Amino acid sequence: MSEPVRLVFLGGLGEIGRNCMAIEQGEGEARRILLVDCGLMFPGPDLHGIDLVLPDFTYLREHAEQIIALVATHGHEDHVGGIQFLLREVSFPIYGSALTLGLARNRIEEAGLLGRTDLRPVVDGERVTIGPFDVEFVPVTHSVPHAHAIVVHTAQGVVLHSGDFKLDLTPVDGRRTDLARIGELAKTDGIRVLLCDSTNAEEAGHAPSELSVGRVLRSLFAEHRGRRVITASFASHLHRIQQIADAAIESGRNVATHGMSMCKNVQLGTDLGVLHIPPGSIVDVEDIDQYGPGEICIISTGSQGEPMSALSLLARGENRFVKLSDHDTVILSSHAIPGNESNVNRVVDGLLKAGAQVVHSGVMDVHATGHAQADEIKTYLSIAQPEWYVPIHGEFRHLMANARLGELMGVPHERVLVCEDGDVLELTDTGVETSGRVPAGYLYVDGIVGDVGSGVLRDRRVLASEGVVVVVVTVDTQTGKVLTGPEIITRGWVYAPEAEDLLDEACDTIAATVERSLAAGVRDVEALERDVRRAAGKFVSDRTRRRPMIVPVVMEA
Ligand SMILES: [Zn+2]
Ligand SMILES: [Zn+2]
Repeated sequence: MSEPVRLVFLGGLGEIGRNCMAIEQGEGEARRILLVDCGLMFPGPDLHGIDLVLPDFTYLREHAEQIIALVATHGHEDHVGGIQFLLREVSFPIYGSALTLGLARNRIEEAGLLGRTDLRPVVDGERVTIGPFDVEFVPVTHSVPHAHAIVVHTAQGVVLHSGDFKLDLTPVDGRRTDLARIGELAKTDGIRVLLCDSTNAEEAGHAPSELSVGRVLRSLFAEHRGRRVITASFASHLHRIQQIADAAIESGRNVATHGMSMCKNVQLGTDLGVLHIPPGSIVDVEDIDQYGPGEICIISTGSQGEPMSALSLLARGENRFVKLSDHDTVILSSHAIPGNESNVNRVVDGLLKAGAQVVHSGVMDVHATGHAQADEIKTYLSIAQPEWYVPIHGEFRHLMANARLGELMGVPHERVLVCEDGDVLELTDTGVETSGRVPAGYLYVDGIVGDVGSGVLRDRRVLASEGVVVVVVTVDTQTGKVLTGPEIITRGWVYAPEAEDLLDEACDTIAATVERSLAAGVRDVEALERDVRRAAGKFVSDRTRRRPMIVPVVMEA
């Protein structure tokens, strides 16, 4: 009998974002927990005022002493952006490629936690012992360089975490997904459980190579000769940045990086030897006016239409360094993440209004996905030949599509497990089965407040869509008389100056209710507030068919 191993899914199964899971072995005090990734999720437009969403840390907090390390698959925010929040409560070393750690480092540093955090860089194919686990870092291609799949050798066999990956056969740096190693593992140890990226499982065929984007960029730069080119892409997509820079320099341009994360990451990539831009071709964005339009390419942040990014400021005419004119061509070398479409559209409109020509992935192939499509997942499955298959990283429909691919490639139906956030899988000598659940709700971050809570969000939704009506009444609980009010203060319900009659009528109705309650002997303030809320709510609903938040305030004199 070998020790059981548990896989605890804390995020990323049921949504794109906040990827986080725990692999654990041992019982009671001897339990050891290895984390794989701890990412954040960007909030949708219905999450009013929320900056980001994190995994629920309740389970990890309860087992803080047993967390031995975190391995990071790659440096995207949905994989490493939550680490700094967890580090405020728990300390552990972090393993990953130098670039992955470099990208994660910024936020850890911002939180002032770098001093007590041990960052341990690994190289491709490296195998390290972490507690009871033997962990291998297998190279994969993705939309950030130096990403890894994670092989964890456990008491219950090999758990293979695919990481985010695609099978790019002609990657910009020639570093391909190491299918040979995965095949070798399948032949020798065997792969007990494969956890596989589902993001593009619904897309048929094979994702285009990153190299194909380079060809399109080169032809665009040639076609727009004599014009200034401004590009926007993810600041961590160093291979895209490399191809933009190559195309720019080939067409006789100098490059200027723009936007804080772009400048930082280009420096990081250059320091690590991942990015190669000849120093003589780099100019400061403050000096671009010394060159003709056809001699400049600006590589900027803001491909997701983030309101404060360099590109958004440019589109609004508020950029300090760059002003748009009809000599400009803007290339959005990206694809809008779901939820960001309207922001991106607004930026494109702004750029066009300022006279620029705009090229985006809707009109030309200036972007290639970083995630495997169906045929790539099938290839991966045919090589890994896992005993058990668990789709991860995706919304429910992506997980289901990926599960079907598993079955198609010969994993028996009962060995394809579609799990959700909070599910726990237990691996034993006899099989793999779900065993209980852990808390896995959304942790909402607003400013520096850790957990905003769903009640606050519910309130914000009502305030945003219906407004608020505050009713203030002062009563004398001795005599049972209304002393002042009701006074109504409203925001977002009716435009007060134009609705005086309506407000007067509301006051009369509420006053009558309060007086009736007082006459009936009600003296409890909370009971009176309930009466006020009910009367005001009914009036507002009857007269305007709206349901604003009603805030009753009854004061005793
Ligand atoms: Zn990724
Ligand atoms: Zn991801």
